[in-house]
Amino acid sequence: MCDFGRCPIHPGFLCFRDSRPFEHNIRLLSGEKTYTPPKRDHVFVYRITHVEKGMFYVGYTEMSLSDRWAGHRAARKREERKNDPLYRAMNEDGLNMFVMEVLEECGAAIKRRRELDYMRQLDSWNPKKGYNGLHEEADYARKLCFLFNPALEVKYTSLWQKRNSVVAGFGKPLPTGYEWLEKEQQELEETLQREGRRLMETIPSFLSPEILTCPPPLVFRNW
Ligand SMILES: [Zn+2]
Repeated sequence: MCDFGRCPIHPGFLCFRDSRPFEHNIRLLSGEKTYTPPKRDHVFVYRITHVEKGMFYVGYTEMSLSDRWAGHRAARKREERKNDPLYRAMNEDGLNMFVMEVLEECGAAIKRRRELDYMRQLDSWNPKKGYNGLHEEADYARKLCFLFNPALEVKYTSLWQKRNSVVAGFGKPLPTGYEWLEKEQQELEETLQREGRRLMETIPSFLSPEILTCPPPLVFRNW
């Protein structure tokens, strides 16, 4: 792909080049290189923003932004991924419309929670605002619920273990006679979603309240 006609990210420049080090697509903190990986046992929580629509995607990676960008860049063409919200947007609007930046570098042990915190704060699972998908909100609600009800997590895990012991392979339907298991799983999931969303109303972040007092940088500030 070659689109040197105009740069939506750096007005007045003809800088888009779809090759490493992807300096057009990656916004760096001072002193960083696009190919610098996170510290040992850490990850980057990052955001990819559509510069005209303002819609964004939140993810985390053990890799440098350059390597992760290369991964997204390749994945968007794969048959089973090309309808993911982010990849659909990349394919329709072009890679030159997107900019990637680090929101935070955090310990690997808390990467998924931190990623979900940002999705929640930025509302990137809202299809009108972001590319993360509503299943992420359900995931957040469930995990938030587990945090305050460890017994529910035990119940949830044991129901999945029961299912796995009677089903050959992930995603396969349960055989007849196991409707009770299906029903129990569904009822528990409904409780988790309802309780989790209720907790979301009252609890700033399921990891740390700091995230709300220290918002991530805006894409266009001091570009
Ligand atoms: Zn540019």
